[in-house]
Amino acid sequence: PFELGGKSVFVAGHRGMVGGALQRRLARENIRLLTAGRAELDLRDQAAVNRWFAAHRPQVVFMAAAKVGGIAANHALRGEFIYDNLVIATNVMHAAYVNRAEKLMFLGSSCIYPRLAAQPITEEALLTAPLEPTNEPYAIAKIAGIKLAEGYRRQYGVDFISVMPTNLYGPGDNYHPEHSHVVAALIRRFHEARLARAQSVVVWGTGTPRREFLYVDDLADACVFLIKGYSSDKPINIGTGEDITIAEFAAEVAITVGYGGAIELDPTRPDGTPRKLLDVSRLSQLGWRARTSLREGLRLAYEAFLREQEDLML
Ligand code: GDP
Repeated sequence: PFELGGKSVFVAGHRGMVGGALQRRLARENIRLLTAGRAELDLRDQAAVNRWFAAHRPQVVFMAAAKVGGIAANHALRGEFIYDNLVIATNVMHAAYVNRAEKLMFLGSSCIYPRLAAQPITEEALLTAPLEPTNEPYAIAKIAGIKLAEGYRRQYGVDFISVMPTNLYGPGDNYHPEHSHVVAALIRRFHEARLARAQSVVVWGTGTPRREFLYVDDLADACVFLIKGYSSDKPINIGTGEDITIAEFAAEVAITVGYGGAIELDPTRPDGTPRKLLDVSRLSQLGWRARTSLREGLRLAYEAFLREQEDLML
């Protein structure tokens, strides 16, 4: 096992939802946390990344920095999604290699798998068939990151690993009405509908796609578990092992938020991949499982949303 204690640990993307959860989880470890704000370090700037790594020489790197968004953002910002994610991955991994980081974790995504992959999706499904078109640029960049980690591992013998989280939600999410992922979008929309005493709320698509949702603090716990105990060129899925339709999910959000009105589907909006459920047997065989139920996670996410909204209004 890899000894994390006493190490300097760089969380790239510490202001994001995943980076925030990693910081909360790493606070329980005896480590020295390194972070860099966007004003101090633009991860898209190769020279700046090289300088920062040479100056700070982190021993462990979590690559939680990425340009992310929901189905509409992925589709609308196709250029930014491929460029930013490719360049962040190459800059950070190369600098970690040059500056002899002892261990690096690259975070991929479940959207790297083929659109019509057999369910639940095993790690072996990678690159076996075409991708979902709405988020193909993002997926291609993430696949490149996985192959970069794998290539550097094989050629240079570095301990770089890749993990594949399923759809995530929790504190620090992005609640942009158009660009957010479905969990944040619906928490906000149902909350606002309740306050406005609206008769109905619109949910995008047909309601039939199935998604798996992982509470982000569970993800962070899995990441720390794997940085300590996993060393392989094979990526590893992180999820709950359970999925739910978008219509059922919307009903759960309504319960959490206390919205009692109607739910209306808008089939002119894209559904995306019909189903995205990860096979988590590789991870469960190592002895890790998610602890937060969807109902409990939604309650925590809604509380965080209310707090974050207050912060924004102050
Ligand atoms: P995806 O898993 O990459 O498709 O990302 P999303 O989280 O953006 O969307 C998941 C599913 O939720 C898709 O089928 C969307 O059409 C559906 N959905 C329903 N309402 C919304 C919404 O208001 N925002 C988003 N982003 N997705 C929604």
